[in-house]
Amino acid sequence: MPKVLKCADLMPDCKTVIVGKDADEVFAKAEAHASKVEADANAKLAKKAVEADAKNIKKHVDAAEDKAKADIKTEKVKAEGEANVQKAAAK
Ligand SMILES: [Zn+2]
Repeated sequence: MPKVLKCADLMPDCKTVIVGKDADEVFAKAEAHASKVEADANAKLAKKAVEADAKNIKKHVDAAEDKAKADIKTEKVKAEGEANVQKAAAK
């Protein structure tokens, strides 16, 4: 008599039904199925992590860009200030 394991009994979201000719086969299939589900879940997590990283990197790049722009502005203001001081001193 074939053995049946409904994955939904363990994981409500999963519709997989595992059928084997005996308990050993059902367990072997269940194990394979579980590792596949786990691999899929890990792949999804990895994708999310990569996306989060990309966002994070963009944030850092943007922040670095803003800082660089601010530094340039500061340098410019400083240079202008020094030029004005030199002009004033030349008078
Ligand atoms: Zn399942």
